[in-house]
Amino acid sequence: MAQTHASNQQSQTQLRNESEKHLVTQIDFARAGIVTEQMKHVAQHENLDPDVIRQGVATGQIAIPANIHHSSLVPVGVGDGLTTKVNVNLGISGDMADADVEWQKVEVALELGAHAIMDLSNSGKTQAFRRELIECSPAMIGTVPMYDAIGYLEKALIAITPEDYLEVVRTHAKDGVDFVTIHAGMNRRVLESFRETGRLTNIVSRGGSLIFAWMEATGRENPFYEFYDEILEILHEHDVTISLGDAMRPGSTYDASDASQIAELIEIGKLTKRAWDKGVQVMVEGPGHMALDEIEANMKMEKLLCHGAPFYVLGPLVADIAPGYDHITAAIGGALAASSGANFLCYVTPAEHLRLPDVNDVREGLVATLIAAHAADIARGLPGARERDNRMSDARRRVAWDEMFDLALDPVKARTYFDSAPPAHDGTCTMCGKMCAMRTVNTIMDGLAIDLDTQ
Ligand code: SF4
Repeated sequence: MAQTHASNQQSQTQLRNESEKHLVTQIDFARAGIVTEQMKHVAQHENLDPDVIRQGVATGQIAIPANIHHSSLVPVGVGDGLTTKVNVNLGISGDMADADVEWQKVEVALELGAHAIMDLSNSGKTQAFRRELIECSPAMIGTVPMYDAIGYLEKALIAITPEDYLEVVRTHAKDGVDFVTIHAGMNRRVLESFRETGRLTNIVSRGGSLIFAWMEATGRENPFYEFYDEILEILHEHDVTISLGDAMRPGSTYDASDASQIAELIEIGKLTKRAWDKGVQVMVEGPGHMALDEIEANMKMEKLLCHGAPFYVLGPLVADIAPGYDHITAAIGGALAASSGANFLCYVTPAEHLRLPDVNDVREGLVATLIAAHAADIARGLPGARERDNRMSDARRRVAWDEMFDLALDPVKARTYFDSAPPAHDGTCTMCGKMCAMRTVNTIMDGLAIDLDTQ
C-alpha cells in the first residue's frame, strides 16, 4: 500500500513536471496557480500576500518583467496596488558615444534606487554595452529594438525587412532584456486618423517616427503590427514583457487626447489581449505632454481600453514652455498620473528637448521622478508609504542632521547644501539662524529658558 502511494506520488510529480515544461513566463505560472520566486520577492517588497501578486499577474494587472536570462535581476512588480516604479533612460547615441559616461549614469541610477534602466543605445557596439549592463544590473532592463535596428543592422532604413526587425527583437530577448518597447499600435488605421485630423507637433516618438518613415517608404503595414504574433512567440520564449509603445503620444499639450492618440490606444487595447492570450506580460506606454486637467481622465481611459494593464507614462509634461526645467513639468504631471492610475513613471531630465542628458541631468531627473512617484504613493494611502517621511520629520524636529541626510532621496545633495553654509549656532541652519523654530520650541518643551543671543 505504502509502495503504491509512493509510486502515485512519483507519477503525479512526473505529470506536474511534464505540464510545467510549457510554463515559461510569470503569467504562465500565475495562471497555473504557481507562485514563483519572483512573485514571492515582489510580495515581500510590497508587504503583500504572495497569492495576491500571483492573482494580479494571472489577470495581467501586474507585470513582473524578468527575462529568464537576467540572473542578476532583483524582480519588481508593476501594477495596481503596488508602489509606483521609476525608470531611467540612458545609452550611447551617434553624437555622444562615450560608454564611460553612460556607465556613470548607470551608477547614479542604481545608487538612487531606479527600478528600471532603459538602454536606448542606437549606435556602435550596442550589444556589448547591453550585455554588460544586464550582467551587472539588479534593476530591470528595457530596450527599444527599433532604435537599435538602424545601428545593429547597418542598413539604410528602407532596406530593412520585417525579418530583420524580428531578428533584432530576438537578439535583445536572448541577451536578457526584461521588457521591450514595441510600437505595434500605430497601424494604417491610426495613420489615417493622423492624416485626417492633423497635429501641431506631428509624431514625436523616435521609434514611431522611424516606423512611420519605413511605412511611407515601403508602402507596407507597420511590421511590428503585421508580425505581432511572431514577436509574441519570441518574447514568450524568454519571458520578455511587451511594453506597447505609444508612437502617437502627444508632443505638445495642444495635441493631447486627440484622435491620433486615442485611435492608437484603442489598437493597443486589442494588442494587450492578444499578448495575454499568448502568455506574454504587458505594460502600456502613455503620454507625453498633457494639460493637468486631462491627466486623470486619460489614466482612467487607458485602464478601461487596455483592460487594466499596467500603465507606464513619460511625464506627462504639463506645460510646453520650460526647456531646462522639464524634470519639473514632468514631475508635476507624473505625480498626478501616478495618483490616478499610472503604475510606472519614466524619468524626464532638465535636458529634455535640448540634448542627451549628462550625469548630473540624470541625477536631477531621477530624483524629481522619484519624488513624483513617492508623492503619489502617499496620496494613494499605500501601507507604509509615509513611514520614511515620518522618520524624516522626527529627525527634523530633533535637528538630527546625519539622520536627515540618510533619509533624504538624494543624501549627497542634501549634505552638500548644508555643508556649503555652516550655521553660526549649534542645532540650527543658516535659514533662520538663532531664530531656529525647532531649537526654540525644543528648548521650551525641555523646560528650559530661551536666550536667543547666547544659545
Ligand atoms: S534654522 Fe530654520 S530651517 Fe534650519 S533647522 Fe532651524 S527651523 Fe529648520
